[in-house]
Amino acid sequence: EVTWVHQIEEQLGKEIVSIDQATRDKLSKDYYWYSPVLNRRLEGIASADVVVLPRNEDEVAKALAFGYRHGIPVTVRGAGTGNYGQAVPLQKGIVLDLSRMDEILEIGLGYARLQCGVRLGVIDKKAREVGQEIRIYPSTYVKATVGGFVSGGSGGIGSIMHGNLWDGNVHEAVIYTMEETPQRLVVTGPELFNYIHNYGTTGILTEVTIPLSPRTEWTQGIAQFPTFEQAMQFGEALAREEAIPKRLIAPMEWPIPSYFVPFSKVIMPEMAAVMLEFAEETLRLVEMLAKRFGGHVGHVIEAKNYRKTIGVSDFTWNHTTLWAMKTDASMTYLQAGFKVDSYLEQIKQIKSKYSDEVYLHVEWVRSGGAVTPTALPVVRFTTEERLYEIIEFFESIGVKIFDPHTWVLDQGGRGEVGSMERKKRENDPKGLLNPGKIICKS
Ligand code: FAD
Repeated sequence: EVTWVHQIEEQLGKEIVSIDQATRDKLSKDYYWYSPVLNRRLEGIASADVVVLPRNEDEVAKALAFGYRHGIPVTVRGAGTGNYGQAVPLQKGIVLDLSRMDEILEIGLGYARLQCGVRLGVIDKKAREVGQEIRIYPSTYVKATVGGFVSGGSGGIGSIMHGNLWDGNVHEAVIYTMEETPQRLVVTGPELFNYIHNYGTTGILTEVTIPLSPRTEWTQGIAQFPTFEQAMQFGEALAREEAIPKRLIAPMEWPIPSYFVPFSKVIMPEMAAVMLEFAEETLRLVEMLAKRFGGHVGHVIEAKNYRKTIGVSDFTWNHTTLWAMKTDASMTYLQAGFKVDSYLEQIKQIKSKYSDEVYLHVEWVRSGGAVTPTALPVVRFTTEERLYEIIEFFESIGVKIFDPHTWVLDQGGRGEVGSMERKKRENDPKGLLNPGKIICKS
């Protein structure tokens, strides 16, 4: 072990290889601690032997070739903000940190070509300067890299108009394979499905091209309703209202809004809240719609203050869970797909069984073109058994669970991974890319 560590330092150079313990520890972790289950399993796990921080594709290829020759696992990471332990090097070896490859290569009309280590917030800022914007991004956009989002995320702000990563939100990717001489593949079209949300198991992405939309001026708002049901129905109506461009519709059951400390002065107690981003000229329409469902838009952040203050989106997606955990450390979460034609009934069943154990947080999105209530319910954690009992109940009433308490792709949100497993065997014949994250059935 020690010998190869010195060899890689020698061959790749000290400028891009770190054996420093603190660096290795830090870059061998992600945000898995949102899950008490993952936290228990991953807490004490040993860090990678080295961290390689390539500055260009040539150095990526060299690190991969070295790993292949010596049979050493390689786990790639962007910013390490993933929640499933998917960037944790379970079998040690090399962590390949792409954060230095952070160049915006091109912003054209309707697209951006990017090195994988560039942060989503930086891309959006640049795009907005030239009258465009990114279509979908996670609530971690300030830190998260575009490569990490494509390889480890799913959707986020903007998904209500543009869908998730699989809905045409990646145009092209440059992939490196894990072979004696790593190949550089340029992948487009349906073949991209083998690389989106792959956890770096089927290849290393060095460059991606994503679509851009014309820039919109976004107003943010918080609408409040006496009941969560009203908040949900308003959310659905807004989701379907084509005259209103929007990129965030997130209904939250009380007491979740009480966790949003920076908004404590503007949030009314005992009411459900819907966190919103919509085109500035449609404020009146949004207000009318809220009224129709028995609520009203209280707090508004005007478009001219967009990203100048803490934003409404900083309380949505998995940031909602973060605010809950700050108030009560025993909180965790689930990822769930409710049925669009029976969500009210499903919610009723869940609430009558788990009144104070599960609090509902929904994100209205478009998935494969269809308006869908996806949810990240906040769950009070007691034991793993109890957590899986709750999951079983959700599934028994037709709520699909995308388990966030596992690092195994096949068991989480990705669904069917057969074609990915085949691709992995082709691109990574020794099975060295992020081992343990995809279970290859032979
Ligand atoms: P990392 O965590 O570094 O990597 C993610 C995965 O991709 C890892 O398995 C890694 O091995 C792999 N990977 C990284 N770079 C590459 C590459 N170049 N080639 C191949 N594989 C690679 N996610 C969402 O989708 N939507 C959300 O709204 C959202 N909200 C979040 C809120 C909070 C508070 C937190 C903590 C997380 C949230 N996430 C969300 C999860 C995560 O932040 C995002 O998916 C983010 O885009 C990941 O980017 P990253 O650079 O941190 O990736």
